[in-house]
Amino acid sequence: MIFPEFFEKELAAQYTPQEIEEIVRGYGAKRPVSFRVNPLRGEREQTLRSLEEEGIDFSCVAWYADAFVSGADERTIANTRVYRMGAIYLQSLSSMLPPLALGAAAGESVLDMTAAPGGKTTQISALTQGGALITACEKDGGRFSRLRYNVEKQGASRVTLLHCDAARLDDFFRFDKILLDAPCSGSGTLQAGESVKITEKTLLGCMQTQSALLKKAWRLLKRGGELVYSTCSIFEKENAGALRHVLTEPDAEVIPLEMPADIPVFPRTDGAVCVKPSVNYEGFFLAKIRKKG
Ligand code: SAM
Repeated sequence: MIFPEFFEKELAAQYTPQEIEEIVRGYGAKRPVSFRVNPLRGEREQTLRSLEEEGIDFSCVAWYADAFVSGADERTIANTRVYRMGAIYLQSLSSMLPPLALGAAAGESVLDMTAAPGGKTTQISALTQGGALITACEKDGGRFSRLRYNVEKQGASRVTLLHCDAARLDDFFRFDKILLDAPCSGSGTLQAGESVKITEKTLLGCMQTQSALLKKAWRLLKRGGELVYSTCSIFEKENAGALRHVLTEPDAEVIPLEMPADIPVFPRTDGAVCVKPSVNYEGFFLAKIRKKG
């Protein structure tokens, strides 16, 4: 793969030559399709039986009972009955991690700041059996329509949809839990054969948006509340670098995250997680921060 010069510099500033080799190998791997069973639209065993009857092969993912990988391609899966009725959702394994880390409970108020197309909004709803009171924001009009479509299709109830810039949400709001799955360069998700479209300017633009959204997230979080920040980037500037906007607050406390052993991660000491691009996983970052009560 050919990387722009700035991209190579970012990697070299942050990773060892051996890690860079692993990253490039991860970009080159062909990831299997993964999906999440949606208990809001059917009982898991019944959904899986229906997939088997339609000839879809799949295998379990050890760390999440609703997650599966399949040898079938996305188009074949999207043609199944259970997909059409919203009983499964195509989603990368890495992107299933933030809602699990958030650990929202029924009755809690949850803000999903940048929600389209709705994978994580609908997962939070599924994880709380539709019991969390979710506010899902999206700035882009076309993507907002997709979010609305998916929320309805997946049967996610108690979701208030806001077509707005989350950085401009009224400071009057307060939430128990906030997910900021921030817009980012996507440096974790590159695949061999794709040309790298990320530019230095894109990266700087993402960093500005991430900083504005993180500052807002902190203002909207209740005392004792928890924020999960995630990106599909492996650049520290968008990850731990962006988080300094929150971690310099005197009432911020990192809640260290632990990943199951079969998820490949870069070693780090700050309690955050950066998943390595690899055969089953996109490169992905997540961190959890509590606002002291
Ligand atoms: N969480 C989503 C999911 O799991 O399906 C993926 C979110 S994607 C990484 C980031 C989203 O943030 C994009 O849809 C983008 O349009 C939206 N976005 C960017 N800036 C925003 C802002 N200021 N306010 C709200 N949404 C924003």
